[in-house]
Amino acid sequence: MRYLEPRSVPALIARFVIAIALIALSNMSFARLHGPHDYNDPLYHIKHAIFVGGPFALFALFIMMFQVRLQRRLSILSRKDSLTGLNNRRTFLECASRRREDRTDGALLLLDADHFKRINDSYGHQAGDICLQSIAETLRRNVRRDDVVGRIGGEEFAIFLCDTTLEQAQIIGERLTKPISFHPTDQSTEAHLSVTLSIGAAVNSPDLSLNTMLANADQALYRAKAEGRARMVVWSDQLLTH
Ligand code: GH3
Ligand code: MG
Ligand code: MG
Repeated sequence: MRYLEPRSVPALIARFVIAIALIALSNMSFARLHGPHDYNDPLYHIKHAIFVGGPFALFALFIMMFQVRLQRRLSILSRKDSLTGLNNRRTFLECASRRREDRTDGALLLLDADHFKRINDSYGHQAGDICLQSIAETLRRNVRRDDVVGRIGGEEFAIFLCDTTLEQAQIIGERLTKPISFHPTDQSTEAHLSVTLSIGAAVNSPDLSLNTMLANADQALYRAKAEGRARMVVWSDQLLTH
């Protein structure tokens, strides 16, 4: 495909001339193969179109198919995080904003892996990546189809729970603070390790912007870390005074 792309005006003209020459050549070959013909015979024109135009039409359709597939792949690559397959930060924010538009009940959870650096330092970066994938899988398993999950930073994740009350969000959050086990290498015979998450939560409020909710959840997350990690703290304005 790269060789077909005209990168300059002379290259474009050269390709155009080659295409015209090929059309003329297939025209001549068809005329020689077909022999004498009647211009009023529709069958002659159908055969001519198939023989001369067919390969070019097929080629154009092939390029279209290739382009559409490429576009789809690029769209996935630009929307998803390549390590975990979750939404990346931008997509998460877009989807969460859309979900908030027509709903009042909901909760935003910010989740951060605890002492993640130690995993990298003790078992290597690959073990850290496997750990992130296990976290992503756990998050995916614990949310519903309408909820939005994303990896919004190195070892930070976010979930927007739709149509969820504070009590329901707390139940889900508590579940997610339990240790998540993973194998430090691809060999499943290795002893498994575990990681916990700290969670900051903010209850949805139509009066607040998503950015404010994120800031509130972040403050709650900070408190969860300070209180000993592996727990969830829900933001309230009392956090500001402590
Ligand atoms: P805390 O409990 O306070 O959150 O401590 P922490 O060690 O989890 O946090 P810290 O910010 O000190 O370290 C985060 C580490 O995450 C540092 C960075 O190298 C690592 N990290 C970020 N992205 C990736 C990644 O894609 N793969 C791996 N393996 N490590 C990553
Ligand atoms: Mg972090
Ligand atoms: Mg961390």
